[in-house]
Amino acid sequence: MYIINNAIDGKPITSSSSKMAKIFNPATGEQIGSLPLSSDNEIEKAIQNAKKAQPAWGDMPPAKRSRIMFKFLQLLNENIDDLAREISREHGKTHEDALGECARGIEVGEYACGIAQMLKGEYSRNVGPAIDTISTRQPLGVVAGITPFNFPAMVPMWMYPMAIAAGNAFVLKPSERNPSAAMFCWELFQQAGLPNGIFNIVHGDKSAVDYLLDSPDIKAISFVGSTPIAEYVYQRGTKAGKRVQALGGAKNHMIILPDADIEGAATALMGAAFGSAGERCMAISVAVPVGKETADKLVALLKPKVAALKIGTASDEAAEMGPLITKAHQEKVIDYINQGEKAGADLLVDGRDFSLQGYEGGYFVGGTLFDNVTSDMSIYKDEIFGPVLSVVRKNSFDEAVDLIHGHEYANGTAIFTRDGDAARSFADKIEVGMVGINVPIPVPVAYHSFGGWKRSSFGDHGIYGPEAVHFYTRLKTITQRWPSGVKEGAKFTFPS
Ligand code: NAD
Repeated sequence: MYIINNAIDGKPITSSSSKMAKIFNPATGEQIGSLPLSSDNEIEKAIQNAKKAQPAWGDMPPAKRSRIMFKFLQLLNENIDDLAREISREHGKTHEDALGECARGIEVGEYACGIAQMLKGEYSRNVGPAIDTISTRQPLGVVAGITPFNFPAMVPMWMYPMAIAAGNAFVLKPSERNPSAAMFCWELFQQAGLPNGIFNIVHGDKSAVDYLLDSPDIKAISFVGSTPIAEYVYQRGTKAGKRVQALGGAKNHMIILPDADIEGAATALMGAAFGSAGERCMAISVAVPVGKETADKLVALLKPKVAALKIGTASDEAAEMGPLITKAHQEKVIDYINQGEKAGADLLVDGRDFSLQGYEGGYFVGGTLFDNVTSDMSIYKDEIFGPVLSVVRKNSFDEAVDLIHGHEYANGTAIFTRDGDAARSFADKIEVGMVGINVPIPVPVAYHSFGGWKRSSFGDHGIYGPEAVHFYTRLKTITQRWPSGVKEGAKFTFPS
């Protein structure tokens, strides 16, 4: 049994909070640790240390900041197996999946190493007589990140490498379900030579989030989590005068046109729907085959595959997915399956009774497949965030597109087809933030930016990539006259 520390001013600090939360092993259901729900004083201490440390860091030449980032990446790569194990122990995902998460986080750090190039400003000579204008981007100061359980290393890395490389100090509040991966990365960043106070971690729940949202010393908030909380964070944070990006939940559809490679589409759907037990914001949870023949073929291919899913613990190399994150979440997913059955959807593969021998207390749910789901059912409308795939049959491309447009979420989507015309029109017109053409999970690489539309994202900036440079800096435009001796009489008209 371990107790998680906060990380403030370059040191692990044992919290003096009397409130603790439990950390469970999702594969066994046993408590393995606990973490503090930090007091306001502790969070304030982290913010004030960050505020003190930031100016010198922001003034450091960006290339020097990058050198520390390079060292951090080297340490991450050297310790990637251990980091993946930290993730799996508290999250439950397979080792391979955890390694994939680490790799995608590291990519953001690699992109952040080029920050000197990205911070280059613009210069115009002679905008007036001997007058030049310079536009430059400066760090905001202290910024904060609030992250979900499903990618405990990667999602924080969507945020702090770019924020810190841009010259800010960062305060992270990770998910209380699995805080160890973030702490592991923090330790490596310190070893890489990051000055004290530039990266801080405070643990907590709603009360810690509220403190960060209200603090006048936090200039920007990056949030990733469920839509109701994202909306709340956006509203409260912007009301307090901050810049906020708040990424929320999803219900991602994949359209399968009659001309698609249906076998390929079915295989892609398996990974996209059931990888990480469906606990991914870019998971495909709705398959939309167009035409009866396409639907029948797709369902016939999917049914045995879903029934044969290999479910196990992170140490089982053959496992394709692991348990869900908590007992409450397992119960919620099972309740959705009950609702789908009651609403009249065809339950072709039922994961409710799955139990793993030797791990009967684990939060497992088996792969579940519904056919003939309709858009009024809760299993269609809500984000289930579990290993449940719904097939919604449609008769035409236009009907399939209308279905997607009718949903409140618009994070990712995909189309499988050999018809370039349909694919191009889909990519062009669909009102969704991230689109895959014969690519089931179109998560942008680190040098593009990630972000959904509609109720999947609140705020004006995508996360990581070029959008992060804008989010974590503010524009300053300097107009200067040299030599200074140019004589002019007083002017009362607007300068032109
Ligand atoms: P969550 O919204 O429950 O928690 C996210 C963070 O918010 C955590 O740090 C948590 O402590 C905090 N929080 C929880 N309740 C709060 C409250 N009432 N007030 C203030 N803060 C609160 O999300 P989760 O269950 O950890 O993660 C799963 C969700 O995250 C899913 O909806 C998933 O789609 C979403 N997600 C979205 C993306 C994306 O990029 N759009 C990526 C990953 C996960």
